[in-house]
Amino acid sequence: MQSLLGKEYDLFLQGMKLPSPTSIRYNPFKEIDRLKGTSLGWCNEALYLANRPNFSHDPFWHGGAYYVQEAGSIFVAHLVEQLLAKIDKPIVLDLCAAPGGKSTHLATILNDNGLLVSNEVVRARFNILKENLIKWGLPNVVLTHNDPSHFSQLGSFFDVVVVDAPCSGEGLFRKLPDSVNEWSEKHVEFCASRQKRILEDIWPCIRPGGYLVYSTCTYNTLENEENLQWIVNNFECDSVRLEIENDWNIVSEFHPHFTTYRFYPHKTLSEGFFISVLQKREESYQEPRLHVKHPYFLKLSKELGGEIAHWFLESEHFCLKQPNGIVNLLPVHFYPEIEYLSRKLTVLYTGSEICQVKGKDINPLPPFANSIYLNQAAFQSAKFSFEEALLYLAKKDLHLECNLGTHLGTYEGLPLGWFKKLPSRINNYYPPEWRLRTL
Ligand code: SAM
Repeated sequence: MQSLLGKEYDLFLQGMKLPSPTSIRYNPFKEIDRLKGTSLGWCNEALYLANRPNFSHDPFWHGGAYYVQEAGSIFVAHLVEQLLAKIDKPIVLDLCAAPGGKSTHLATILNDNGLLVSNEVVRARFNILKENLIKWGLPNVVLTHNDPSHFSQLGSFFDVVVVDAPCSGEGLFRKLPDSVNEWSEKHVEFCASRQKRILEDIWPCIRPGGYLVYSTCTYNTLENEENLQWIVNNFECDSVRLEIENDWNIVSEFHPHFTTYRFYPHKTLSEGFFISVLQKREESYQEPRLHVKHPYFLKLSKELGGEIAHWFLESEHFCLKQPNGIVNLLPVHFYPEIEYLSRKLTVLYTGSEICQVKGKDINPLPPFANSIYLNQAAFQSAKFSFEEALLYLAKKDLHLECNLGTHLGTYEGLPLGWFKKLPSRINNYYPPEWRLRTL
């Protein structure tokens, strides 16, 4: 750090003693009463909070109305947004996506116009990624569980690939002091060579003219500048400079072949973070042939389509059925791409799951309660008090006066999930794996 920061090293050490700031990013598609806080320059939907509330006891957090995210990490989508401005119907890969901070943000900025492929190779971490994206409620996402090496078989497919690489985590030492014990020079070297392998693996799937966004939450140059220099030496690409404002205090450095942006705790209200963008040089290439002979998704019958049509707020997105009877809401412009991805990769979740058809029964599924396209007026609903909301989220016994049948449970207007009132009890359909474990 001394060689990196020179005279500023002492200031950095002082910054390391400051408390870690708390920042959250709101879901612009879910309306709730927002907390008061100080704004973050690089994202209109994000705030610094003066204190750290108990998020796990806030029904708004469980309902996907906001995400607790580090301020530096929120900067990624600010950069990607600038890249997307020039691309029609972009397809973005978030390669190392769990737990989903950047993916929920990327899905938001892509919205109706683009598709996000959100990938996590570690199975245990994939589940939390899936939960967070479902709760966020946008249908423009395909969730995959693949090793980076699997992506080259897609051909030049993505307009933007975000590699938020697994790293030695030096930038988190202030927030997570125990992580210092995992640090060693050997580990830094191991991370740097793993990052090179990841970058080499995914380079072919960036289309010419497309972008690589590379970030880490570590300071050392081996995992940062030296890896970028390695890419520049081995692949045809150009540096990309993006707009940032001086008063954000993000440190940008212009190297001959790339530009870097660094967050330091003595400069910005954030943990340590590093990011850079490269553009793959244009060359002639063949677009992948997306046509598949036997599609996985099936058309809905006219009757089924008619029965669920009023369940949705107006959108261009459309529904198709899986062979197991589950109906998915899929993003409108990307059906061929979704079929193509399902052929080539381990796709574990697509769009938003809406309902399951079993004989004559059509049962709404948990993710639909979180969907931003849910038409609440189409269902019986019950307004939970704060205590009832927590009991519901913890899957404890509920005693509610309401009609028999299926209900949408809401808290302050925000849907949390489904339950069914029977004559003698209430069946709580909140997914057990999302259950709030402490009350
Ligand atoms: N982008 C995430 C977010 O904003 O919430 C954080 C990602 S974290 C820095 C890096 C991720 O890379 C972890 O989820 C980790 O499981 C995953 N990972 C670990 N080994 C990997 C590998 N060999 N290839 C790709 N990803 C890997």
